[in-house]
Amino acid sequence: MKPLLSFFRRYALQYWHWYVSGIVFLLATNWITVQIPLELAAGVDALGADGDPQRLQRSVKLIASMGVSILVVRTLSRILFFTPGRLIEYRLKNDLFQRLLELQPAFHAQWKTGDIVSRVSNDVSLLRVLVGFGILQIFNVTAALAMAGREMLRISPALTAMTLVPIAVAMLIVQVGLRRLFIMSRRSQEALADLSQHVLSSLQGVPIIQGFNAEEAFGERFLVHNKAYLDANMELAWVRALHMPLLPLAGGLSLAGLVGFGGSMAASNVITVGELVAFTTYVGILLMPLRSLGWLLAVFQRGIMGLERIYSLLNAQPDRPEGAHGHKRNRTSAPEIQLRNLTFAYPDQPKDPVLSDINADIPSGSTVGLFGRTGSGKSTLLKLISRAYNPPPNTISVDGWEILELDLDDWRSQTSVVPQQPFLFSESIEHNISMGTADAERLQETLKGAALETDLEALPNGTNTLVGERGIMLSGGQRQRVALARGLYREFDLLLLDDVLSAVDHHTEKQLIDTLVQTGRGQEKDSRPTMLLVSHRVSAMRHADNILVLDEGRLVDQGTHDELTRRPGPYQEAWQQQSGEAAIP
Ligand code: ATP
Ligand code: MG
Repeated sequence: MKPLLSFFRRYALQYWHWYVSGIVFLLATNWITVQIPLELAAGVDALGADGDPQRLQRSVKLIASMGVSILVVRTLSRILFFTPGRLIEYRLKNDLFQRLLELQPAFHAQWKTGDIVSRVSNDVSLLRVLVGFGILQIFNVTAALAMAGREMLRISPALTAMTLVPIAVAMLIVQVGLRRLFIMSRRSQEALADLSQHVLSSLQGVPIIQGFNAEEAFGERFLVHNKAYLDANMELAWVRALHMPLLPLAGGLSLAGLVGFGGSMAASNVITVGELVAFTTYVGILLMPLRSLGWLLAVFQRGIMGLERIYSLLNAQPDRPEGAHGHKRNRTSAPEIQLRNLTFAYPDQPKDPVLSDINADIPSGSTVGLFGRTGSGKSTLLKLISRAYNPPPNTISVDGWEILELDLDDWRSQTSVVPQQPFLFSESIEHNISMGTADAERLQETLKGAALETDLEALPNGTNTLVGERGIMLSGGQRQRVALARGLYREFDLLLLDDVLSAVDHHTEKQLIDTLVQTGRGQEKDSRPTMLLVSHRVSAMRHADNILVLDEGRLVDQGTHDELTRRPGPYQEAWQQQSGEAAIP
């Protein structure tokens, strides 16, 4: 209940005037609905021997005009209730997306995409129904019960009590069923999330599935997920099918009793025939809201469940230890980075450090190479320096400042990261590079810097060429260089390049290295950016001022290319091997 109240406060309260107007029209609808049987009773009683034909005429006209008015006020009340529902859905989706963009890799690593998609679409829809139709029905049922109930009591309290007993019993049973329903619909949502996840990841790998003739295996796994979803929903449908008709059934029983008891009451003149007709009509009128009462309880129960699932996304906090007032770096010079006893393990494997006890200095404006076997922790180190993951306290400092105290947005704005796996959005090359900021001159400069100019000439629309999903239209090397160009496009003080030259030939590699350093910084700055360059290729490391050699998460050596090639170790081995390879014609 508590999350529901906080949700109403946060999202629904501001639309109170919609709701209040909606309630006014809803009350009007119910009031008119209740008047009709009264007129009907008057009309029926006017049919009697001492009746008044004029009165009957009047009743007919009144009932007709009330019918038309109901149409108008009912439509208005619905519009007034449903609009806030849609507006809340709209805002909720915006907020969720915004939050998803704020949350860091450590969060996203724990969540399946399918699950997130299912929450943003299905659970939000459940909530929309709750705050629109759900709230409307609460007032509708209450108003109908109160108004029709009052008239029924006025006609005969005994008859009213007799009518309500079966309904009350049915509601108690339904309440028990709802608890079961709650569990079942959660299971159904989870099964849907698994199913969506399987579809999403399979779709991304369709060419691989086909290439490895794995259609059958993937199809079978889909069947398993799909079956689980079917089972969950079938069970849900059973529980619903068994419980939901109980309320209308109770209404039917009431009606049967009414004809029996009420009939004899009318015969013995305790009530008039007109009153019996009116009473029967009231029970008929109440059946609709009662039927929707069962539905309403289900809507609330599903809405609350959806809300819990949405809140676990919406209330997830980005991990920003610096708080709202982080330190903003003075950008007159490039950052100097110090690593002190840096040991780091990923949150999902806290006992397995990926980096152990690393101490190193990266002076301002220097180019530092990171060299090491696969899995030695190079990418991880870049992720910590760029704060994609937060390092443990007091292990990384920037210009003497603890990195965790830096304002994260400010730090990101001066750091340019080109990740190991180039990721392209399904948009134009230009958009992929500029990421929404347009500067034609800078774009040209960057294309040149990333050695993309000749490639672009061959493409149909140059920089406006759409790259297809995840860049499928480009070659691997082109994709890598578009991602590199994105990194070089922005003004940075720190450039982190994770193995970005692996898919280019030696000639392009040399060209890239020559131009890399000049591109990044704005014209008004004359000092060089600090640069960290990860590569397996010794040739890419030659120009580095210092090379850190990592092995199994430890810093095992460091020095310049010349120094490292002279002493035995992983670097020398790689150098001998690679220069040997280069010599093979
Ligand atoms: P490569 O040269 O192959 O790119 P690398 O030196 O960049 O290797 P890292 O990506 O830093 O290596 O990985 C180091 C270790 O951390 C690996 O054992 C890897 O399994 C583990 N690792 C990487 N990313 C994660 C993650 N998100 N969660 C858990 N473990 C991870
Ligand atoms: Mg790596």
